[in-house]
Amino acid sequence: MDLLKGKVAMVTGGTRGIGYAIVKTYLDNGASVALCGSRQETVDKALAQLKAENPDYPVIGLCPDLGNPEEVAAAVAQTKEAFGRFDILVNNAGISARESIYDYKPEDFTKIMNLNVTAVFNCAQAAAKVMKEQGGGVILNTSSMVSLHGQPSGVGYPASKFAVNGLTKSLARELGKDNIRVNAVAPGITRTDMVAALPEAMIKPLIATIPLGRVGEPEDVANAFLFLASDLASYVTGEILSVDGAARS
Ligand code: NAD
Repeated sequence: MDLLKGKVAMVTGGTRGIGYAIVKTYLDNGASVALCGSRQETVDKALAQLKAENPDYPVIGLCPDLGNPEEVAAAVAQTKEAFGRFDILVNNAGISARESIYDYKPEDFTKIMNLNVTAVFNCAQAAAKVMKEQGGGVILNTSSMVSLHGQPSGVGYPASKFAVNGLTKSLARELGKDNIRVNAVAPGITRTDMVAALPEAMIKPLIATIPLGRVGEPEDVANAFLFLASDLASYVTGEILSVDGAARS
């Protein structure tokens, strides 16, 4: 398929997991992609993996500090310079922590908010400025199933994803007049490092609550990001699209 032919995307947290699957899906659909990661080493590894699959993939690697608005704006500018346009931003980088409220370290709460919320704001702001000048674009955020239902421990993570939904819905209303669509994907449990870090005893009962009877694959989530980035979703904005097998825990 060529659903993103001629489009240029920047994907944060693109080195592994869901972000890597989004990068690959976008490349396979004709987009040029700037893949962002937190360390040069992991960015280089992801680039090498992609180039091994297809040496002609139009992909570059960037390592901006997403908490720093100047570095984020520079990454957006570098992406535009490399590929001539800037059409799609995917805010995917995210972290979680599972401590109970009684043990929760305030610095962990701040760290989660900085990456999961403030970085989304920084990237959206830098991208929207370029997209407005260009006549439009698409901003996609990675929310979570827990943004709809909360979760029974690790309150910082669901709080951050509720905030992502708020950013998504509000920016959709603010940026519609500039032809910029803003949506989020809310994955359920998806097979990535984030999930591999959970103890088996926690995963098994979770699967039992999923009507489709399995955890999601990164590609399941990437396909939702493909639809929302493409012109097939030209009248869809302000939505939080669940990709969770109808899990409700
Ligand atoms: P992952 O841990 O496999 O990958 C996280 C990505 O974020 C990596 O590319 C990493 O380089 C990047 N990252 C981490 N810290 C960073 C930092 N400080 N600065 C810049 N980049 C940083 O995670 P994943 O499971 O693929 O999750 C991706 C997104 O999906 C996250 O926003 C997560 O909250 C969300 N999500 C995941 C699941 C799941 O079950 N895996 C479920 C719902 C939502």
